[in-house]
Amino acid sequence: MSAGRKSEGLMEQGQPQAVSGRVFSIVIVDDARPSTLLLKAALGESPNLSITLFTDPLAALGWIETHRPDLIITDYVMPEMDGIALARRIRALPHGSAVPIIMATARNEAAVRTLALSAGINEFLGKPVDGTELRARVQNMLHLREQHVQLQEANNRLQSLNKMLALEIEQRKILEDELRRLATLDMLTGALTRRRFLELFDQELGRRARTATPLSVLMIDLDHFKSINDRFGHATGDLALSHFSAVCKSCLRSSDFLGRMGGEEFAALLPETDIEEAHVVAERLRRSIAAAKITLDDDVSITVTISIGVAECYGYQQAEAILAAADRALYEAKNSGRNRVVRAAPPGSF
Ligand SMILES: [Mg+2]
Repeated sequence: MSAGRKSEGLMEQGQPQAVSGRVFSIVIVDDARPSTLLLKAALGESPNLSITLFTDPLAALGWIETHRPDLIITDYVMPEMDGIALARRIRALPHGSAVPIIMATARNEAAVRTLALSAGINEFLGKPVDGTELRARVQNMLHLREQHVQLQEANNRLQSLNKMLALEIEQRKILEDELRRLATLDMLTGALTRRRFLELFDQELGRRARTATPLSVLMIDLDHFKSINDRFGHATGDLALSHFSAVCKSCLRSSDFLGRMGGEEFAALLPETDIEEAHVVAERLRRSIAAAKITLDDDVSITVTISIGVAECYGYQQAEAILAAADRALYEAKNSGRNRVVRAAPPGSF
């Protein structure tokens, strides 16, 4: 059988066709140069095999570390380092745990075999090496190696899929948080919904109880809103409401909260603000609204006014009670002519 026939035999014995045209790298280590040449000749020529020969095991170890071959065939008795020590060093390499190692040795006794197995050597061949047996064992080892590589690739694919999934979950969470935030806002005006406003009010009240900082609230109502709707239609009413909330945004601080409590009624919560400061804010807001024109058509514009009741939380325990006090002040502002700010009396003073 020629060398060419032998190499065909290697690929024909079954499996490694699945091996998909990959070139396997085989390292042969033997301190006797003629032995390395004999082993190489026994493996035969094949485009699927790349065979590298070493007589120095230390040089072989360095090459194995950088080139990560698919199979190692080593001699046992070598002067610098024997085959078992070499196998231990290979197994200790970062990628050395999975490479198959065959030991070819004349020392075929049980003690040597046991030691070799414990060092991580996979197969034995007696010397002089039988070519057919060598090819069969190499074939088996390469087949196992290929399965290992494929498993590792599948594992890598799974890991990158996992990473992508984790990223997708993270993005979905961000989206859900945004949707949840949007659900707390009134669509037309961008003000908080009544429910969310009351939640934040309770939170601020709890914080206020701990820090003893002032907290004030404004109850705000658009004057004659019904007549705007009746006269100009609901689209203009909506325009007046969004105009109002835009002016509020420019008059309130970013730490203040504006909530739409219903229809044309709004409330603003002003943390760390006493009633004197809240009154100043309310006046500024009232004047800004009264001064701004809402343009309807090219030649038509309207103005709206607001009435505001102001209350400070000092002396109150419940958000509802504070809002009721501000609401009474608002009622008074409405009754005394609208477009004005009225301060609530402190609790227990009426
Ligand atoms: Mg030797």
